[in-house]
Amino acid sequence: MEQGETRKEKQIRELVCAQRRYFLSGATLSYEARLDALRRIRWALCKYEPQLLHALYQDLGKSPSESYMSEIAMTKAELNYCMRHLAGWMRREHVRNEVSNFSGKSFTMAEPYGVVLVMAPWNYPVLLCLEPVINAIAAGNCVILKPSAYAPHVAAVIENMIAACFAPERVAVVCGGREENTALLEQRFDYIFFTGSVAVGKIVLEKAARYLTPVTLELGGKSPCIVDKTADVPRAARRIVFGKLLNAGQTCVAPDYLIVHPDIKYELFRAMEQELKKMLGEEPLACGEYPHMVNKKHYLRVMNLMKGQLAVTGGYGNPETLQIAPTILDEVSLDAPIMKEEIFGPVLPVLTFTTREELLAILRHFEKPLACYLFTRDRAMEQWVLRHVPFGGGCINDTIVHLATSGMGFGGVGASGMGSYHGRAGFETFSHRKSIVKKYNWIDLPMRYHPYADWKDAVIRRVMR
Ligand code: NAD
Repeated sequence: MEQGETRKEKQIRELVCAQRRYFLSGATLSYEARLDALRRIRWALCKYEPQLLHALYQDLGKSPSESYMSEIAMTKAELNYCMRHLAGWMRREHVRNEVSNFSGKSFTMAEPYGVVLVMAPWNYPVLLCLEPVINAIAAGNCVILKPSAYAPHVAAVIENMIAACFAPERVAVVCGGREENTALLEQRFDYIFFTGSVAVGKIVLEKAARYLTPVTLELGGKSPCIVDKTADVPRAARRIVFGKLLNAGQTCVAPDYLIVHPDIKYELFRAMEQELKKMLGEEPLACGEYPHMVNKKHYLRVMNLMKGQLAVTGGYGNPETLQIAPTILDEVSLDAPIMKEEIFGPVLPVLTFTTREELLAILRHFEKPLACYLFTRDRAMEQWVLRHVPFGGGCINDTIVHLATSGMGFGGVGASGMGSYHGRAGFETFSHRKSIVKKYNWIDLPMRYHPYADWKDAVIRRVMR
């Protein structure tokens, strides 16, 4: 043991060393090795699916249907997509050669960083652990995965699942809390991929700076949902309710608050209430499929945010089951505590706008969000929002579902994060792209070599303009 080191710290340090040795052996580099690793995850996902579904119910009260749709199926889709495209992504990419590089060719190729740390949150504990791991493996890295201690049952299943597929020097899981997090961030990694809160994201970035380790931060924030007066109100209501109910609002891309045109506000409220009844019945907390808040602290935080607000529907919870009824809050002011932090619960505050200037003023009150949703049938409005409102990603006339398209990257901007993943974006995130010029030897143009001369100068000026 090194001086002052605990047993845990020693284990973690040795694990990183073992992974680095393994990576440097070159065993992770070939297409076959990467595909084999991805196949192992596919096998494990099928084998451990019942255990994962049960653990998700234990940790978050998620029903098997919701867990399958929003965690297992999404992970499988990402896995299949990566397996299908991996060979193409690994190929060299040729780029046009500059005349100054005559005679030769230019190309780029992706190389893995090495040993990668993936830190995951508790809210989608299967998806957000395994998706980055799949991308990192596809890119040829060794991975240490740190699941959140707040979803302990899922973390335990994932630990077993990964141990059943991989030797620890290839992919390993480190479970635990503060001590493990601190010990991990003391190590030198070649890449850190963090999903979680802004506050911890800042700590991760600071720790990474010590070794100049590149970092992706997948953070959260307040994602707005705009409904203008041309929207198809019944559809909008249904899709907004879907986005807010998923995992009881504990979703990084959940619509955090609504900005609605006053002309359709009450029609939208009625439609959302109808949808809530259709989906969860008269008493949402009695519906066996409705998830709960992850823990007491989180439950109390969200309940406190509702205090003093005007609830159109909901507004109550059950401290025994930690469930909070889906809640719509009307006439919320920008100064209210609920507008000061990411809600991360099934509560939807509503603000109104009539002009684009008013809308922009509200949106600019907040940091750049991870997601933004717009419900409209007005093409000009759609263009205007896309051009003027910065955000990580989003949907027009829907919520949440943009992250299901593996063909495009997913990530935040500004305070909602940096970098992206999913599909090719994920492969590129976990790869360094080397740029190469390969020179041929049949000719060697003399212009760049000493001694310089007027004729050389003339040629250079003619060619390099
Ligand atoms: P968190 O920041 O508390 O924890 C994330 C991870 O960091 C966990 O593994 C945790 O164990 C670890 N951690 C916690 N404190 C730490 C510390 N002091 N030092 C080092 N590591 C530490 O986040 P959370 O509560 O698990 O997740 C909720 C947040 O994550 C929300 O803000 C949500 O928006 C965000 N989120 C973002 C995305 C995304 O894709 N952008 C996805 C899900 C969640």
